[in-house]
This record gives sequence, structure tokens and C-alpha cells, in this order.
Amino acid sequence: MADDVAKLSDIGERGAIEVLARIYDRGQPIGLGHDCGAVEWGDDYLVVTTDVVNAKTHIPPGATPPQIGWYATAVNLSDIAAAGARPLGFVAALSMPASTDVEFLRGLALGIEECVREFGIAVLGGDTKEADAISIAGTAFGRVRKDRILLRTGARPGDVIVVTGDLGRAGHAMRLLQDPSAARTEALNQLLRPYPRISDGMFFSDSGAVTSCMDISDGLGASLAQMAAMTRLSYQVDEASLPKYRGLSSLPPGIAKDLLLYYGGDYELIATVRADAIETVLERYAQTKPPERNRLTVIGKVAATGGNVLVTKSGVEPLLNKGWEHFRPSGFR
Ligand SMILES: [Mg+2]
Repeated sequence: MADDVAKLSDIGERGAIEVLARIYDRGQPIGLGHDCGAVEWGDDYLVVTTDVVNAKTHIPPGATPPQIGWYATAVNLSDIAAAGARPLGFVAALSMPASTDVEFLRGLALGIEECVREFGIAVLGGDTKEADAISIAGTAFGRVRKDRILLRTGARPGDVIVVTGDLGRAGHAMRLLQDPSAARTEALNQLLRPYPRISDGMFFSDSGAVTSCMDISDGLGASLAQMAAMTRLSYQVDEASLPKYRGLSSLPPGIAKDLLLYYGGDYELIATVRADAIETVLERYAQTKPPERNRLTVIGKVAATGGNVLVTKSGVEPLLNKGWEHFRPSGFR
């Protein structure tokens, strides 16, 4: 059978996840397919997530060990944020060749420590093993009230779609890194120092008006496609309302649009809010002063049918399920 010889490069990351989910799925109400898994803990959930970072796919040349350490921690905390949870702790399993400089290890740990401190938690432990290539497998834990956990499902037709921060920052940085004459330090920081939206996720959870949430690790189009695959709803994004990273304006419009919609790596939160509560949510958000950039933008609405679309000045076009995907030969689906 063809299935027996299929490679991961044929089915991509999403196909690989389907293979795993078919084996693991016991009808868990929360977990498979969401940003975090959950364990019952009295009136709360203990939420857990894991994310691995390796040299081949995540670490551009010139990245410093502290940047890599921050990134490996932040991508995990971003999933804790997406669940609306308060972080509790972090563990990291480090694989690296014996030839690795001790200074690299020290720098990596300093980056991890800086990120966990920023979010009020500590590294609880981990593992260190010899391997052919550097990889960092992080696991983060958090806690959220059972009735206030945020999932990728839960949106209803009529809900309003919002996004934190701006979009296209990481894509813009990756473009700069391809240009040998561009300054790399700032671009590497843009790419490798995403700021997990922990306070925003907790604000969403506390509001009681946010019906679903996820972090945009794979880009806006791919993220909304993953939500739509679970809810069968239509996510309709208004192009003019998207909070574009200012650096995109210096790029050709077609490229800027592609980075805005389909590049990913920004680790902002996308959420749906009950229409009757959106004004209150926006007002309260403006009153809170989280330590990071403070911006929440309405970008569209949820409808019962119609697929995911981008509403532009000239009409309506499909919002594609396109973005970064591991195991694909090009890195993109
Ligand atoms: Mg996620």
C-alpha cells in the first residue's frame, strides 16, 4: 500500500499530527488540537504544552545563545497565554553535540532564565543529552479556572475576531536576514524575542466574553484554518483593519501582504469575542496597562458558512490555509 511508504515530507506536519491524534484520541474534551493539554485540578485546570526548537528550522545564522534560549521558552509560554492561563513553571530538555562550547550552554540558559523571570516563573528542571544537532525541547505549565480556559473551539456566528499587537514583524525580520547588507541584530531580536501575550490571555480569560483563542505561530491564514477545521465556521477578516507591522510598508505590496497573512512567527493571540461584549472588552483592555505593547484590534467576524475569507477593497477573496509547515520540502504548505 502507498501508505506504507509515505514519508513525512508527503503528509507534512498536519498529516503527522493526524497520524498521532488517531492513536492518542480517547475523546479528551481538552487537549488534542488545542494549544495546551489540560489535567483536572479541583476548580482549575493544570495546562501543559511542549514545543521543540532546533537549529535546522528555527535558528538563523548569527542568532546568539541567549536569543535562542528566550525563543525556546517564549514559544511555549505563548501556548500557555493562548489558553488564558497563568504560568506555573518551565522545564527544558537540551540535546547538543559534545563539541558545543560551554559558553553556548551558559548563554542558552541565561536566555531561558531571562524569559521565565519576565513571566514570574522558574526553570523547575530538565535534561541534558548528547546528540548530533542542537535542539531544545521546552515544556511549560500553567493554571486556569476550569470555566475560563480558552480553547480554539467555542466561537459562534456573530462573534467578533480580535488580534493582539501587530502582524508581519517576524516575516519582515526574516526578509531582512536574507539581505546580506541589512543590520542583523535588530532583525534577529524581532524574530527570536517574541513576547508571549500572557497578560492578554489572562485578560481574555477574566473577561468571560472571549469565546475562543489561539496563538498565531503559523500565520493568520493557517491559524484561522486550524480553528475553522475544528468549528466548521467561517472566519471573515477585513484586510484594511489588520494591524500591520510598520516595517512592511517598505516592501512591495504583494510581498508585504503575503508576510502579513501567511508568514507567522509573530506569536500574537487571535481571539473571538461575543458581539454584545466587544465594546466593554476594548474599553477595559485600553484601561489595563500590560508591560508589553498595548494594542487590541478588531479584524473581522465569525459567520456560519462561507469558508475563511479576506474582505478587501475590491471584493472578497479566500483566506488561504497557507503558512509555515514542518516536513514540507519548501517549509511551506
Ligand atoms: Mg499554539
